[in-house]
Amino acid sequence: MSKIRIEAITRSQNRPRITIEENGRRSEIFGINVFNEERMLQYLTKDALESVRSAIFSGSKIDRKIADQVAESMKAWAITMGATHYTHWFQPLTGATAEKHDAFFDLLPDGRALEKFGGGQLVQQEPDASSFPSGGIRNTFEARGYTAWDPTSSAFIYGTTLCIPTIFVSYTGEALDNKAPLLRALSAVDEAATAVAKYFDKTVSKVNATLGWEQEYFLLDKALAVSRPDIVMTGRTLIGNQAAKGQQLDDHYFGVIPDRVLSFMSDLEKECTKLGIPVKTRHNEVAPNQFELAPVFEEANLAVDHNLLLMDVMDKIADKHNFKVLFHEKPFAGINGSGKHNNWSLATDTGVNLLSPGSTPMKNLQFLTFFINTIKAVDTYEELLRASIASASNDHRLGANEAPPAIFSIFVGTQLGNVLDELEGVSQGKLSPEEKTELKLNVVGKIPEILLDNTDRNRTSPFAFTGNKFEMRGVGSKSNCAKPMTVLNTIVAKQLIDFKKEVDALIDKKSLKKDEAVFNILREYIKTSKRIRFDGDGYSREWEKEAERRKLSNNKTTPAALQVLTSKASLDLFRTMKVMSEVEVAARKEVELETYIFQIQIEGRMYNELVYSYIIPAAIAYQNDLIKNVMGLKDIYGAAHKKLTDGQLSIIEQIAEHIVEVKKQSDLMTDARRSANRLKDVNKKAFAYCDSVKPYFDKIRLHCDKLESIMDNNLWPLTKYRELLFQK
Ligand code: ADP
Ligand code: MG
Repeated sequence: MSKIRIEAITRSQNRPRITIEENGRRSEIFGINVFNEERMLQYLTKDALESVRSAIFSGSKIDRKIADQVAESMKAWAITMGATHYTHWFQPLTGATAEKHDAFFDLLPDGRALEKFGGGQLVQQEPDASSFPSGGIRNTFEARGYTAWDPTSSAFIYGTTLCIPTIFVSYTGEALDNKAPLLRALSAVDEAATAVAKYFDKTVSKVNATLGWEQEYFLLDKALAVSRPDIVMTGRTLIGNQAAKGQQLDDHYFGVIPDRVLSFMSDLEKECTKLGIPVKTRHNEVAPNQFELAPVFEEANLAVDHNLLLMDVMDKIADKHNFKVLFHEKPFAGINGSGKHNNWSLATDTGVNLLSPGSTPMKNLQFLTFFINTIKAVDTYEELLRASIASASNDHRLGANEAPPAIFSIFVGTQLGNVLDELEGVSQGKLSPEEKTELKLNVVGKIPEILLDNTDRNRTSPFAFTGNKFEMRGVGSKSNCAKPMTVLNTIVAKQLIDFKKEVDALIDKKSLKKDEAVFNILREYIKTSKRIRFDGDGYSREWEKEAERRKLSNNKTTPAALQVLTSKASLDLFRTMKVMSEVEVAARKEVELETYIFQIQIEGRMYNELVYSYIIPAAIAYQNDLIKNVMGLKDIYGAAHKKLTDGQLSIIEQIAEHIVEVKKQSDLMTDARRSANRLKDVNKKAFAYCDSVKPYFDKIRLHCDKLESIMDNNLWPLTKYRELLFQK
């Protein structure tokens, strides 16, 4: 057996237990490392506090004097907490987070040392970040970008560093990150939803989008993970024969969490709790060694930051516990991949969830308004939503044989489906008093406050209504939720603006009452957005055909899915909603395409290395053993050896055939890669990688896996699936 494989297995079996003390209540440590409202009350003057509050509430600017004061207090607090450095924490288009640490420590001209951190450093920084992808923005405009403080997401201390959440923009104002467009989308949906919510309650003055993500991941012993070069380089296994046992017994799902994993989880949760991430749920997922963690939902921008922070913290805590976390959407063939469901809703500053049915007909009309407008928005922009979750790694789920499909559809459940059907029959124009009463009592009034019927029965739906929120299920486990959240909130904002215009027009021009106008417009939306509603089996071939008939998009690969970003409709949408300019959208498309190319390229190179440096040498070694054996038998038995060496000879031949094939497919793939690399146009290149390079991967894999299945276990160079997935 290869030395690294033996060593990895031995190590994984002899890990010391790390016990985590569970002392006291989580609520007592919640947010102790965060410069939150409680800390601000303690450290800021009243003026400064008010200024920060109003920046959070209405996006107002914080003036320099106040910023100085906030910085001074943040520093004072951070130093008492043992922090020595600060960093602007941002989200470049790489999808990860970035930071550059500076010490508080500074020298005065006379040589005395002190700890310094002023408003200037808090508000703006200029990291030399010229190597981050910008899709050409910084070349076209200005060479430099800067980071700017986002006061709506609290600063926090991680390790000995004060981290300040920031946006990352070019000097000409283009967003170079994922956070700035998200903030703009959230502000758009706030404005649009507040205006509509006022139809029902005049006292509403702000609407927040809420997000509750559910993070799935795999956990492997660190030594086992490192023993696989493909996992190290690509985050997934490129080859590997399936273990005798997979997930068919369902014995892992919601099972007892293994001790070692539980220690890791407890440690992780404690760290998260201190950082103000309200983690709540943990359990085993369907596949072996797959788990899930979910927090209580929060305001969307904060939730996005918390998810990114969580992924960082997970890496670090896992390392301490000798684990490696795999966030990749499909680390292993043959068992479930990982996703990150995004539960989304809208909440008013008066404490009402706009997607939650209420106790009165009026509250239910409000619910229906937001519910139906969301359906309409998703129907209009389904392809754009699909684009927002496209990536090379997520292609293994969407459009492959795994939930959810690449086709967007909405599950509403029977109960609400019936309500929508009834509303479709509402009369045009003015409603008779009888009809109004009937509607209020028997249709709207009949929606129960809690939609028990709606809880999650359809696991294949990519966009399901689950009682008081929508759940977007196609988001990749590895991805930054900011991307889908930017699109979802933008399209809902746009839809609500259109809705309000239409309702107001009916009120003004046709002198309808407000509720009559609302019913009239909702009726039309129900009619025109029917094609997006689907409660059946999302993976079936019949649905795929039916969806095609309904003209729903079905983009199975990233390059195909990304095209819609720069359609006229998308560009108009982002521009009119002030979320992204044409340049910003085009830049993102380019970055996404480039990232796709790089990922497939890296996998291609890795396949080559696996084939030439691992698989073929091992196959030859085993073949030589067999040849030696056959020759030995021939020496002893002469002509009579034939009936004794049949088995060996057949394996020798099979090995030879697989070697020929892996080499051939691998070389063809390299040729395809070379010709793809010659293409200048990034779009064409991405399609070439997708359509001409990637198809070889499965062919190479097939022969490697066949070899694994017939070869001497001791000679197989790579740690096997059963060792990766079932060593506890
Ligand atoms: P599951 O989908 O696993 O059955 P739940 O439906 O209970 O679990 O909740 C999943 C996630 O939905 C949790 O993170 C929860 O905080 C979040 N959630 C619940 N209500 C809302 C809401 N109004 N807005 C956004 N997220 C929500
Ligand atoms: Mg869920």
